[in-house]
Amino acid sequence: MRVRTILGDVAPSALGKTLIHEHLAVDWGEMLGRPKILDFEYDAMRDKMVNALNAVRVYGIGAMVECTPIGCGRYIDLFRDVSAASGVKIICSTGFFHESWCPMHPIARAFDIDAMTDLFVREITEGMGGTLIKAGIIKCATGEGRVSPKEEQVLRAAARAHRQTGCPIITHTTGGLGDVQLDIFESEGVTPGEVIISHVGCEKDNWLAYSEALLQRGANISFDRIGEPSFGADQHWIDLLTNAIQKGFIRRVMFSHDSAVLIHGYNEVINPGVEITGDFTYISRVFIPKLQQAGVTDQQLSIMFEENPQRVLAF
Ligand SMILES: [Zn+2]
Repeated sequence: MRVRTILGDVAPSALGKTLIHEHLAVDWGEMLGRPKILDFEYDAMRDKMVNALNAVRVYGIGAMVECTPIGCGRYIDLFRDVSAASGVKIICSTGFFHESWCPMHPIARAFDIDAMTDLFVREITEGMGGTLIKAGIIKCATGEGRVSPKEEQVLRAAARAHRQTGCPIITHTTGGLGDVQLDIFESEGVTPGEVIISHVGCEKDNWLAYSEALLQRGANISFDRIGEPSFGADQHWIDLLTNAIQKGFIRRVMFSHDSAVLIHGYNEVINPGVEITGDFTYISRVFIPKLQQAGVTDQQLSIMFEENPQRVLAF
C-alpha cells in the first residue's frame, strides 16, 4: 500500500497530519470560457503557495489533498514545485467537477463512460495531462438538487477507474445527495468504505441525521469547510464531529478547510460575499483547541487527522 503524491509514491505513514480537502488553485476560466489566469507571475505565485504550506508545516501537517480536477485550475507543474519547495506532500486529483455552477468540462461532455474511465486510469498510472506526474485521488461531483446524466457518468467512470487501480475517490456534494452518490458507486461494485464524501454539514438542514446516515452505510465523510463562517460556525462543526465520535464513527471522519490560494471564477459565479483566504492554518490554530475544550482527546484527534487520511489515501 502506498499513497501517490505529486513527487512520487510514499508509505502512508509518511504523510503525518493530513488536510483531506484543499485547493492551491481554483481557476474556472477554461470551463467558463473566460481567460484562465495564465499571466500570473510564476515565481510570485509559487512563493505565495509555498508560504501558505510552510505556515501549516509549523503545526506538523505533512500532507494535503489538492482536490482540483481536470480543467479547474489544476496547475500540475506549479503544484509540484510548491510541494518540493515546502516539503508538504500533495496528492493531486484526476476527475471532473459538476455542472450546476459552471458548464461541464468539454472533455467530459465529449467522452462516454469508457473513455472517461480510460482517461482517469491513465492519469493515475501514467501521468496527468501532458506530464508524467500521477494523480493520487479521483475527484467527482454532483450539483444542486439532482444528479445530472453527465455527472452520473463521471461518477460511474470514477468507480470503474477505482476498481481498476484501487485509487481512492473523493466526491464534492452540493447541499446533499451523498446518499445518491453512494447508490451509484454501489451499483458499480464500489463499497461506501472506499469513498470519501466531502462537504458534509453544508446542507440546508438535517445535518446530524444526514451525516449519520452516510456513516451508517460505511462511508468516509469529511467536514471540510471549517473556518469560513458563511458555511457554518465552529460550533456547527464541533457538534457534528462530536456526534460522530459519540456514535462510534471516529474511524470514518475527517476535517479540512476547502480553501484555496488562487481563485478565479468561483467567487464571481457562486459566492460573491465569501472571501477564500488560502489560510490552511485555521483548523490547527483555532479549531483544534476548541475541539479539545469540547473534550476531544489527542488520541481521537490523531485518528481523524492522521490515521484516517493515511488509510483512505492508500492503495
Ligand atoms: Zn473543494
